[in-house]
Amino acid sequence: MYQTLIKPAFADIKTFILDTLFPITCLSCGKEGDFLCVNCKSLLTKLEHQRCIACQKPSPFGLTHPSCQTPHMADGLISFYDYHDKKVSKILIAGKYFFLKDIYKTLATMVAEKINNNFPNLLSPNSYFLTPIPLHPSRKRWRGFNQAEILCQSLSTELNLPVADVLQRRKLTKTQKDLKKAERLQNINSAFTLSSKILNPKSYILNNNFILVDDVTTTGATLQEAAKVLKRNGATKVICLTVARD
Ligand SMILES: [Zn+2]
Ligand SMILES: [Zn+2]
Repeated sequence: MYQTLIKPAFADIKTFILDTLFPITCLSCGKEGDFLCVNCKSLLTKLEHQRCIACQKPSPFGLTHPSCQTPHMADGLISFYDYHDKKVSKILIAGKYFFLKDIYKTLATMVAEKINNNFPNLLSPNSYFLTPIPLHPSRKRWRGFNQAEILCQSLSTELNLPVADVLQRRKLTKTQKDLKKAERLQNINSAFTLSSKILNPKSYILNNNFILVDDVTTTGATLQEAAKVLKRNGATKVICLTVARD
């Protein structure tokens, strides 16, 4: 009884103090109230084309071209915003380096709306599991969260798809963005395995479909490496999904 009375009051006071000391402002224009105001949401540059994850050329719905597809390759890549737009990159970088977990919930809501409108085939019942690209445990400890997990959890609520946290990162890789293409492939090679928390991983993956989620992609190398682990363990379809593409 007391707890129910006290808890909301305490939560209100905490929110009040935090908001007073650190008012939430739009990361793009500085207006108070939200990490991304309604106006700035509409101004983010949207990508004109979906592209094949293998050859990077335009492809309808981001599906991997049949001529590019190999057995362990992702079947598609869907991205919505242009990372070359400074507003987009600023938001994603700020989220990670200023520990703004909530910005990913806002971005997930925006992404979910676009999936509902443009990719309804991903949403039939029992269709796909949402799987985050894992961070190395030491990096997750430092940041306090994995942005891909936050995106997955919010997308799961918005799209009514289950989350399957089935991968783990076994290599502490360098940040892909700082590397050249060949170095990126080398850096990320064999970085992922199935999560050791899953008791019977093969049966968990076999004949299921997965949406691999991350905040941003450049060459697709990280997503491809993670997709490979799922495909090798019998996943039927793997579609990659990112908020932005570089
Ligand atoms: Zn704004
Ligand atoms: Zn292609």
